[in-house]
Amino acid sequence: MENHSNFIKTIMIQDLESKKHDEIITRFPPEPNGYLHIGHARAVINNFELAKNFGGKTNLRFDDTNPGKEDVEYVNAIIEDIKWLGYEPNKVLYASDYFEEMYHRAILLIKKGLAYVDDLSAEEISKTRGNLTTPGTESPFRNRSVSENIELFENMNKGMYKEGEKVLRAKIDMASPNMNMRDPVIYRISYAEHHNTGKRWCIYPMYDYAHPLEDAIEGITHSLCSLEFEDHRPLYDWVVRETEMPLIPRQIEFGRLNIENTVMSKRYLKQLVDEKHVIGWDDPRMPTLSGLRRRGYTPEAIRNFILGTGLSRINTTVNTDMLESFLRDDLANNSSKLMGVIDPLKVTVINYDEDKVEAFTVPFDPNKPELGERTVYFSKHLYIEQDDFVEVKPNKHWKRLAKDVEVRLFHTYFIKCVDVIKDETGKVVELLVTYDPETKSGSGFSERKPNGTIHFVSAHQSIKTQFNLFGPLVFDGEAPFIERLNKDSWIKKEGFIEAAFSKDIPTKSFQLIRMGYFNFDKVSTKENMVLNRIVELKSSFQK
Ligand code: ATP
Ligand code: MG
Repeated sequence: MENHSNFIKTIMIQDLESKKHDEIITRFPPEPNGYLHIGHARAVINNFELAKNFGGKTNLRFDDTNPGKEDVEYVNAIIEDIKWLGYEPNKVLYASDYFEEMYHRAILLIKKGLAYVDDLSAEEISKTRGNLTTPGTESPFRNRSVSENIELFENMNKGMYKEGEKVLRAKIDMASPNMNMRDPVIYRISYAEHHNTGKRWCIYPMYDYAHPLEDAIEGITHSLCSLEFEDHRPLYDWVVRETEMPLIPRQIEFGRLNIENTVMSKRYLKQLVDEKHVIGWDDPRMPTLSGLRRRGYTPEAIRNFILGTGLSRINTTVNTDMLESFLRDDLANNSSKLMGVIDPLKVTVINYDEDKVEAFTVPFDPNKPELGERTVYFSKHLYIEQDDFVEVKPNKHWKRLAKDVEVRLFHTYFIKCVDVIKDETGKVVELLVTYDPETKSGSGFSERKPNGTIHFVSAHQSIKTQFNLFGPLVFDGEAPFIERLNKDSWIKKEGFIEAAFSKDIPTKSFQLIRMGYFNFDKVSTKENMVLNRIVELKSSFQK
């Protein structure tokens, strides 16, 4: 896999050349409080590819310092998603395994006079932090003695106080222009049960204290994170330095990836799941990796997309078209071609025998003989797509069926519509057509040019199928996102697919000719087939 040049790669090259490091070690550090989404894929793929590029290593480390929101369900899903993307972590690690060391490093900070136990409430702390134009004010507890701080911190650890009653704060600078340096809270009390350490701890390190230590403990050389942590970097460096960690990681920020009409924050995705706007984290409309996988996205398409969009220092929003074009490129190379009718219209071939059925042996893809062949059937009773018929041909651009017009049916014969049957509302419910035996596919017939070629299935040799057609789950806009949900994001249709589907087909995803790329949903069975449309064949994007 080509790894496009980017500013982080340049830094790594310099650090190897200057012998600052002799190996590159990166990490992907998700908090296990939700499933990974395609934004995370940017971090995953770049961390792994960058290290791989230099023969280095990448750890998967769960940043599990927040017991209330975390769960093993998420841990397992994240491990599976990373594997699916094609990466094998050097090690799978848990920040919670470092709690002991973090605790001792906090004691060291206290001994150095660089941390203190504060009795102010969270609200009071936030009120006294000041703002960008006003310095913060010092807590009345800021100048407690080292021995008092040690005793109080040990008592916090022993469970002697209620949640919120006391915190440990780094003693840095309440007047710092960087708000993050104004005596940040580094430990808090929580009695929630932790998914890994259970009830062993009742004090938990805060992200800004824990994260740099996690990196330093693992010997991470380059700690990549998204841009919102830029202002936290001075604190990151302070923590590593003042806790006297022997190995010094370097934090480097990159821009977040956003995609239009796509919510990309675990908080919102969790809300969609919890409020049942979707059927789960792996709903095929979700931008989660498990949702995209279920829908039929391939890991190659996602990797090519992420590497193709590059890695820059600014946040970027790309349109869905770009993702879909990488997807189509990959599917085009890895799909067979079959026929399915999503919105069926009955067709009766009036000059064909009721009992006759003809079988045509045709390739799964004429350009890929290695995929093998299948059987396509033709008989008196067919289905075509409703959209492929209008009663009166509107203009010369209409290259489908109409009354008194002749079209080719893929792989079989020309048919001509001679009459229609309507229901009481005037809707056309059945076409009466004639076929011309002279036009049999493969016969070399070339006397007439048909008015286009359309797909079909033979009614008695087809399989009833549910088609899932998807649109964006949410539209971009100003309103709260729940009000921007797309009511038509999941359209279900009952149609038919050709008989070849009753046997194994050679590719996992396939093109239904003219209708898009599809794959079987995870609930699909031989008896009740359910197909997800992964993406349409062409972009419907309009500028
Ligand atoms: P969210 O905002 O969706 O909850 P997060 O940043 O809180 O995401 P983490 O589990 O903390 O999720 O993220 C793990 C890593 O993935 C972090 O390094 C984070 O910077 C990165 N990441 C998350 N979302 C994106 C994104 N949209 N683009 C690039 N990187 C991302
Ligand atoms: Mg986070």
